[in-house]
Amino acid sequence: MTKNHELLYVAISLDIDPDANSAVEGRHDALSSPVGHDKIRVEACKRGLQKALELLDVYDLDATLFYEARTAQMLVADGMDLPTLSERHEVSCHSLKHEDFLGKVSGIPMDEKSIEKSIDKATEILVEIFGREIKGFRAPYTSINRTVVKVLERLGFHYDSSETVTLGTGWAGKPYSLEAFDSSLMELALPSFRDANGKKMSSYLWAIFEGRRISSEYIDAVLQARDVAKGGLFIFSIHPWHVYVDYRGNPFSNNQVKKNLENLDSILSQLKLTQGIHILRQDKYLENWLTK
Ligand SMILES: [Zn+2]
Repeated sequence: MTKNHELLYVAISLDIDPDANSAVEGRHDALSSPVGHDKIRVEACKRGLQKALELLDVYDLDATLFYEARTAQMLVADGMDLPTLSERHEVSCHSLKHEDFLGKVSGIPMDEKSIEKSIDKATEILVEIFGREIKGFRAPYTSINRTVVKVLERLGFHYDSSETVTLGTGWAGKPYSLEAFDSSLMELALPSFRDANGKKMSSYLWAIFEGRRISSEYIDAVLQARDVAKGGLFIFSIHPWHVYVDYRGNPFSNNQVKKNLENLDSILSQLKLTQGIHILRQDKYLENWLTK
């Protein structure tokens, strides 16, 4: 029998945000691409989310759902019973309107007060919809700075999950506090790693949906991590909309959608069969880790 501390922990996270969202010059919130249409769409997100949640049920897996509050509101308005569908999963926050907090694309960084106002409002909306405590946060574009972290800490979040760190000798997938930002907020970072050809790769599944990677490369990464990150957490991330539309907002062909769903299914089924790993929600991992 494998002892618990020798396992690799794996979390499956979903960033539930508008279809093909993109930051826009001159405004804080995100729009769906092409941004010239000045619109937010969630049709692909809705279909992708339904499929992803079905698959998670099929394989009996609990996930962490990072909801953009505006998207959650739109999905509920569209008749989706999010509280019931999300019941077994962790509900976390992915901002109010996918704000470009740092102003990297908008050109207008947000000040502390407006960041706090938007994250506070997002949490309020999610608590109202789901009736649960929101513990985790993932920033839009996975971009955080000292100000965002300070706000998260003040609002009582238990952890952030926005940073990307290279898995290996320096980091074994363990939580750490955001001391670099003068904060004691815990970080559950996303892993980056090398593929078989030495090329850098992330645990976001977008490259599969864009036809640039195959599912076995992600499983190989987990097998590698199982050796170098015992006791650590390997977080997968998925944008549900990406099953149906590409990052420019163009719908995939039926054939491509079928392939995307097969790939998603294949990753989950293979993870389920992999020895020496344990799949769990991010909040559960952090709880276990803190009580150790
Ligand atoms: Zn996002």
